[in-house]
Amino acid sequence: MSRDPVITWSPSVTLVPTRACFNACGYCSFRRPPAPGELAGGWLGDGLEDGAAQALMAARPEALEVLLLTGELPPGSSGRPLWFGRLRRLSELALAAGRLPHTNAGPLSLREMACLGRFNPSLGLMLEGLGPAYDALHRQAPSKQLAVRLAQLEQAGRLGIPFTTGLLLGVGESAAQRRDALELIALFQQRWGHIQEVILQPWRPDGAAAAPLAPATVNELLTTIAEARWILPPEVHLQLPPNLWPADRLVEALEAGIDDLGGIDTGDVINPAYPQTSTVHLSGWLERHGWHLRPRLCVHRRWIPWLSPPLRHRAETMAQQLKAAG
Ligand code: SF4
Repeated sequence: MSRDPVITWSPSVTLVPTRACFNACGYCSFRRPPAPGELAGGWLGDGLEDGAAQALMAARPEALEVLLLTGELPPGSSGRPLWFGRLRRLSELALAAGRLPHTNAGPLSLREMACLGRFNPSLGLMLEGLGPAYDALHRQAPSKQLAVRLAQLEQAGRLGIPFTTGLLLGVGESAAQRRDALELIALFQQRWGHIQEVILQPWRPDGAAAAPLAPATVNELLTTIAEARWILPPEVHLQLPPNLWPADRLVEALEAGIDDLGGIDTGDVINPAYPQTSTVHLSGWLERHGWHLRPRLCVHRRWIPWLSPPLRHRAETMAQQLKAAG
């Protein structure tokens, strides 16, 4: 093995302020349609009041990252300020609980992104992909238009916010379209340097039980991982969600270029049929194959100096504690 054998993951707890979403992506089983009152400014949320959020964080003391995942309200809707205020409040609660928030809330206005960037050491937004297969799946999802997503990568770069993006793979796109999408991300990284990780997420069908990835699909995705490692600058981490990938082929994915397994909570709220593997089990298994699994913060070390002084101080202290714990 010629590369660094360390594989990182982020111990996380997921908070979902609302599943109400004005988009309707063709693959989504997470959303619920917004109620008319929510669009008109009456916050309904999904029961995640301050006390409930604090209880969820307290129940997972090992989580250093608080992943905020939410459905979206339309830009300009009278309900949006309340929705946004809730994201800000939950970010503050995460910091107050000694954790670091990482928010994935869809496209944000310049003002919204700048505000959340003061509380979140990193933000996330999937590029998803480009080509007709994505256009068909996103026909009723204005937030998922490619131009909107690219403008978000640009805006985050201008603001200097460490950023996570990624591709949803296996929805009918071609290998060339995957390469084109990776090359676009590489261009943003060359311009701004803020892309800390790219998630290569195999699309998995929802349902009561997990559907295994076909061996031919795994082979195709391994090629994409290797191409991503070649196309993207070396500082960009390549992330694969381990619960969406066959365990007996994980080593091949690492050898192809994956070096991060992302935020791992006790379950997966987006793909609930795909249970998370125990990281104790995963770590033992990887050690036997010559790899070392290590926890990290939601912001990777290289980007900690980018943060505002209070966030930087917090992240540096937590990173030192992680290092001391081995
Ligand atoms: S934007 Fe996200 S939550 Fe909304 S429909 Fe699409 S995948 Fe689901």
